[in-house]
Amino acid sequence: MKFSKMFIPTTKETPNDATLPSHQFLLRAGFIAQTGAGIYDFMPMGKIVLDKIRAVVKDEMDKAGANEVQFGFVTPLSLWEESGRANTMGNELLRFKDRKNTNFVLSPTNEEAVVNMVKNRITSYKDLPIHLYQINTKFRDEARPRFGLMRGREFLMKDGYSFHSSAEDLVREFNLMEETYKKVYTRLGLNFRVVAADSGAIGGSGSKEFHVIADSGEDTIVVCDSCDYGANIEAATRKAVTKEKLETIKIEKIETPNCKTIDEVSSFLNADSYYSMKAVIKKAVYEDKTQIVVFFVRGCDELEETKACNSVAALELADANEDDLKDAGLVAGYCGIIDLPKNVKVVVDNELQGENNLVCGANEENYHLKGVDLTVLELNYADLVAVQEGDICACCGGKLSYTKGIEAGHIFQLGTKYSQAMNANFLDENGKAKPFVMGCYGIGVSRLVAAVIEQNHDEKGCLWTKETAPFMVDIIVSNSKKEEEASAGEKIYEDLKAAGVQVLLDDRINARFGFKMGDFELIGFPYAVVIGKKLVDGFVEVVDRKTLEKTDVKIEDVVSTII
Ligand code: ATP
Ligand code: MG
Ligand code: MG
Ligand code: MG
Repeated sequence: MKFSKMFIPTTKETPNDATLPSHQFLLRAGFIAQTGAGIYDFMPMGKIVLDKIRAVVKDEMDKAGANEVQFGFVTPLSLWEESGRANTMGNELLRFKDRKNTNFVLSPTNEEAVVNMVKNRITSYKDLPIHLYQINTKFRDEARPRFGLMRGREFLMKDGYSFHSSAEDLVREFNLMEETYKKVYTRLGLNFRVVAADSGAIGGSGSKEFHVIADSGEDTIVVCDSCDYGANIEAATRKAVTKEKLETIKIEKIETPNCKTIDEVSSFLNADSYYSMKAVIKKAVYEDKTQIVVFFVRGCDELEETKACNSVAALELADANEDDLKDAGLVAGYCGIIDLPKNVKVVVDNELQGENNLVCGANEENYHLKGVDLTVLELNYADLVAVQEGDICACCGGKLSYTKGIEAGHIFQLGTKYSQAMNANFLDENGKAKPFVMGCYGIGVSRLVAAVIEQNHDEKGCLWTKETAPFMVDIIVSNSKKEEEASAGEKIYEDLKAAGVQVLLDDRINARFGFKMGDFELIGFPYAVVIGKKLVDGFVEVVDRKTLEKTDVKIEDVVSTII
């Protein structure tokens, strides 16, 4: 490809609302363009990267024996009524009516659609297992679309669904998917961790998340430095709080905090995280209503989630404003499912869960107060481990620490939740009708475009990994008006192409060298070949984008240097 023929609108301007490097650089380097809140177009370079990631995902899914399909982006609401999720999905599910007044939704995920596809078409255990997947647009009306592609409303996801005749066979496929996902992220050149997770609104029992390690990640995960053990914070906390020994401690014995600063709260929570949190709730509800408590409540099935979420929303915080927040000393905590003390008066007010209130809801995007971000304190994991008396070392006994991750994939053992609800059965060996045992598996394809850059960038721009780079090499002709430079550029371009290297020739006549170099650094191709002054001696410069090191290379050695 030639730069002069491509639409790559780079700019120096950083949009005000873009705080993350991936968001800034993807916009500035002309990969994406925003058209609405959480809605992005992919321009040519962005489309190339998106397709590359998509191709890796498809390749590994096909190798694992899954069949690619495509579900409608629009699904009749009636299917969601069958599964029961029409009532539990909340506002992320965008609903609309057609001219005949029939209700539809824009698919945020496709469990209902896949059950509908398989139901009555697979009727015998002999036709199981089967795994169907698609790579297709999703829409979730996220309360806080932000960070560019990271949390869009419209985004690209690979979603796969498997059907089995037994729970054992589901576990086999679940493990196969874990291995498949690891291959995907490894091929993409990412540093990632697999962590135990709760199942969230999708439901089911076992689940694992795949996190791309990056400081800007929205999720906190706990990882071991000596083995593969990892858990997201909700799963780690939940595990701790369900221990019988802990549940017998009376919360009345815990001192309630009188913290005015985040640091004080932090050290208080570190003392005994779970019960401290209960104490904070007690305090907030009964004694000091100005104290503000924010909890993450996730990782359970919808019913539980709704209950827990409403309980927390009961903390009577609706009138708090930014100043109240500061005066009170913000108290924020993290937890899995919480059991509020029985005598807490629960005021369920769904209105509290709107955009403009201080909210404790089922989705972490809800946690804001008119644009004020709430700082979320994490529990001290070391303390949790201490009270768990060795239960956590399911792992090797190495050092556990917190790190930040970007959720790039999530796999679930769904079981019969959807097949039962939608009456989707098969006949087993004895001719008995049974609901399908299901798994589901998601990869955030468009989120990965941003995740690659969160993990790989410098102050000048993007550093694409080899498998994700839109082009491997950018040939920069310093002065395209000089005949000999232009033709040397063409020659190297043809040679690299012939060697199978994906290459872009920056042949723009009216762009100066500094400008072309700036574009190279901003866009972030792994290498540049600069054709300039040394051409008279038969040399060009090869620039490594990561280190910005320059090496003089003879023209005839360019291909072997790059490959
Ligand atoms: P999150 O916790 O970030 O909201 P999720 O747990 O709701 O994600 P899943 O239902 O597990 O998401 O969907 C599978 C994958 O789709 C996620 O692991 C993530 O990579 C991607 N994804 C989910 N929501 C978004 C979004 N709003 N924008 C881009 N990608 C997303
Ligand atoms: Mg979500
Ligand atoms: Mg999640
Ligand atoms: Mg998830």
